[in-house]
Formats: sequence, structure tokens, C-alpha cells
Amino acid sequence: MIQNELPSIAKSVWSATSHEPPECPPFTGNQETDVAIIGGGFTGLTAALHLAKSGVCVTLLEAETPGWGASGRNGGQLNPGLKEDPDKVEQHFGPAYGKRAVETSGKAVDLVASLIAEHEIDCSFSRPGWIQPIHDMSAWSTVARRVAQWQRREAPLRMLSETETADLLGTGAYKGAMLDERGGQLHPLNYAIGLAKAAIKHGAKLHAHSRVLGIEKQGASQVLRLNTGQLRARRVLICTNGYTDQVAPQHRRTVVPIRSIQIATDPLTDNLRRSILPHGHSASDSRRLLLYFRLDADGRFLMGGRGDYSESGLKRQFAALHKVTRQIYPQLEDTPFTYHWGGYVAMTADHYPHLASAGDGVMSAMGYNGRGVAMATALGKVLADWASGVREEDLDFPVSKLQPIPFHFMRRPAVAATIAWSRLRDTWG
Ligand SMILES: Cc1cc2nc3c(=O)[nH]c(=O)nc-3n(C[C@H](O)[C@H](O)[C@H](O)COP(=O)(O)OP(=O)(O)OC[C@H]3O[C@@H](n4cnc5c(N)ncnc54)[C@H](O)[C@@H]3O)c2cc1C
Repeated sequence: MIQNELPSIAKSVWSATSHEPPECPPFTGNQETDVAIIGGGFTGLTAALHLAKSGVCVTLLEAETPGWGASGRNGGQLNPGLKEDPDKVEQHFGPAYGKRAVETSGKAVDLVASLIAEHEIDCSFSRPGWIQPIHDMSAWSTVARRVAQWQRREAPLRMLSETETADLLGTGAYKGAMLDERGGQLHPLNYAIGLAKAAIKHGAKLHAHSRVLGIEKQGASQVLRLNTGQLRARRVLICTNGYTDQVAPQHRRTVVPIRSIQIATDPLTDNLRRSILPHGHSASDSRRLLLYFRLDADGRFLMGGRGDYSESGLKRQFAALHKVTRQIYPQLEDTPFTYHWGGYVAMTADHYPHLASAGDGVMSAMGYNGRGVAMATALGKVLADWASGVREEDLDFPVSKLQPIPFHFMRRPAVAATIAWSRLRDTWG
């Protein structure tokens, strides 16, 4: 179970099957560090690892335990690229920075693979490729354009016919698909635990159950206030994504946390296993409210989709997820779903993650728009470079201004309206 979470979204397959986490004693006393990191997900943990490796004194403060947020709960799908396609990314950031953003996001899975190999992280990593199945012919041209744009950049993507798609997915529910051979998958909580262990091994100090309550500039330093003490730092990295609280009110207004939920079975029988995703691909489809699915390393089937803020809404969404899973895979009709869980993804108004400075040595990376397993790993490294003194213009991802979302206090009704509209458009095609 995910500790300190609503019971209805706490029964996670990853928590039930994870390795022992490292010892991370709660923070106490008055301490000093070069770089303080708030948040122990992939962003904060990779930043801590890179900084510690290069000899920087780094202290990470996590309100719960490493990987407690989205990083320990996600679908474990390593999908290269950003939400937007490469041509649009280059237009958005301009030719020089845009090209860098495309390269960094396109190679983000390589970075994950190299970290796993270098630090011998045991997290069931595999790289059979990522499939984006097309739910309706109206999405075909969008997906084909994506493939063409990446192919022009020599990335190994191709379109699949309806028959090829049915063979690779084990369902005839889709009209065709895109296959991106760069994609992979892993056990996300074990990846977070492995990153935490590696960071500690290289000298980073990690503190669990250590919620930062406030940040205050004092002279040339920033002072982080906790219930149990305070930490003085030269630089602060805010890595709290969809869980950003009042510690960073400006950042909080730049993202909208949206719940994503998942269900999982127990390990399937060999027969069922052979009939679903027989070559081990992961999939997230072309719907606006996308469905994402895969098998884990032990053959459990996982399906994810959009959640809700309220208990009654969650109940409805879990029931809808059961139903659609059995529509796509009728062979699961009699298979119970043992696990039900969820967490917050952080959406931004422009659909891009934001690497930003709040002035005076306070830097942040957040807003992965549900595409953060590989990308948070990549931006954690960029944050580490930045905190080590690499100039903004030389970073592997462009720095943008903090962009508060207008009428942020209205986010919940706005999200509900957007979801209802997207659902209608998905149904109409
Ligand atoms: C259900 C679900 C499925 C997803 N599936 C996928 C997928 O298959 N592929 C993909 O690429 N992406 C997926 N994502 C998105 C991905 O998980 C995230 O983008 C990524 O994990 C973000 O990492 P992070 O480190 O930035 O934030 P998080 O992992 O959310 O970490 C933020 C941490 O900050 C801590 N924190 C907050 N405030 C404070 C404070 N004041 N003091 C101390 N600590 C604090 C929180 O406790 C939390 O642990 C999914 C997300 C969810 C929720």
C-alpha cells in the first residue's frame, strides 16, 4: 500500500512488489549544504545522484519516502520525446534551443538505460519498444506526421498496419499504430529506490519524512524551514511536480495536477500471457484521454487512464477502466483486478515541461504532462548541470520563465470541463 494516501488509490502493484528502500533518516537540526533538493522523485533523485557524483555537497528532503509521488506510481513506460512533435518543439523554442529540446527528449530513454547500467539498478528494465495504437482513423494522420518528423531526424519509428498492430498488441481493437523502437519499460518504484541508493552511495544525504515548510532568502543563502530544523543552502532545486504545495506558491500556479489511475491483475496464466502483448511492448493509445497498458515483468496486466478528484468520480473511473480493458481484451473477462491506485501528473498550459529559475539560486523542473519517467530523469541531470554552474544558454534544455496559469484557483472545474469535452471528442472521432 502507498502510505499516507487515500485508501481508494493506495493499492499499488509497485508498492506490493518493490525492493527494500534505503535508510533515509528524517532531517533534524541546523545544517548547511551546497545544494538542497526538495522532492524525492525521478527529478530530485537524478539531480542528487549527478551532483553527488561530481563531488557537490547535496541534501535531498522528501516529505514522504523516495518515489512516493508520481515516480513510484506510474505506468513505468519509457516513452521518448515530448507531448508535442519535434517540428512544433523547434518552432516553440526556436531553432537552436528547440533542436536541443528535441535531442534531449529523444535520447532520454538512452540516459535512463545508461544510469541503470552504470549503477546496476535492479528495476526490470527492458526495451522492446513503445506502441502508440490508433483508436480511430481520425488520429491516423496525426500519428503518421509524428513518425515522419522523427524519421527525418533518423529515429527508429514506423507505422504498423492494422494486422501488424493486432499481432503485437493481441487485440483487434485498433486501426493501426506507431512503433517507436527507442521506447522501454521498468518497475518505477524500484527505479526510484535504485536511484536513491546510488545517490547515497556517492555521498548525497537523503532525508525521508522531511517536509519543507518554507524557503527564505538570508544573505547569499536560502534557508529551508522544516518542523524539525533548518537547512541553509547555496542553491535550491524544486522538484515537486504534481505534488507542489505552499512551499513554492509561484511554481504551484504553473501546473495543474491531474489524477491518473491504474489497475493491475495478478500474474496471468501462460496462455493469457501469450495472447496479450506477446513481445513485451508497452502501449499508450491515441485518445485525448489516453489509455496506457503493458505487462509487468511477472506477467501482470496493467491498464491506466484518467482519474478524478472526488471519491465518487474515482469509483466511476475505476469501473470505466475495468470495462474498457475487457472491451479491448475480452480474454480478461474473468480475470480480477487485484490492484487499484493512482497519483498526480502535472500538466502545463503549453504542454511543455518547464525548467525555470525563481531567482537567487532557486531552480526548478516540473510539468511533464504525464510523460516524465524518461524526461524527469533527463531534466534532473540538466538541473544538476545548472546548479553546478553550467550557463543557462549551454544547458541541454531551454530555460523558460515561470508562467502562472490564469485563474489557477478555478483549475478543478476547468479540468472537469476539459475532460468531458475530450471524452466527447474521443467518442466522436
Ligand atoms: C498514475 C500515473 C501514471 C503515469 N505513467 C507514466 C508513464 O507510464 N510514463 C511516463 O513517462 N510518465 C508517467 N507518469 C508521469 C511521471 O510519473 C511523472 O512525470 C514523474 O514521475 C515526475 O517525477 P518528479 O520527480 O518530477 O515528481 P514526483 O515523482 O511526483 O515527486 C515529487 C515529490 O515531491 C515531494 N514533495 C512535495 N512537496 C514537498 C515538500 N514541501 N517538501 C518535501 N517534499 C515534497 C512529494 O512527496 C513527491 O514525492 C505517470 C504519472 C502517474 C501519476
